[in-house]
Amino acid sequence: MDKADNTKSKRYKFRCWKCRKEYFGPLEITGQQKVIVTCPYCHVQAVVNLQPYYKELRTVLKREEYNATDIQREEGFQPPEIFPTLKPE
Ligand SMILES: [Zn+2]
Repeated sequence: MDKADNTKSKRYKFRCWKCRKEYFGPLEITGQQKVIVTCPYCHVQAVVNLQPYYKELRTVLKREEYNATDIQREEGFQPPEIFPTLKPE
């Protein structure tokens, strides 16, 4: 069946760069640096830069190199209360 209940994908809060409204959206932590989200209010696409939130992960990965599992990646991820978003290029 489908994997909609996969716990790898959690919901986080984002603030739209355009209309400034806050909304929840799913975010799968797979080690990527940037993700694209879509505002449910004004429907613009927004870029979320995840790089600053992997600080702790880098310490974790010193031992494991980049063979870390998704669980380790998630443990090293320190999300803010609300993710700021940027206008896509
Ligand atoms: Zn918006």
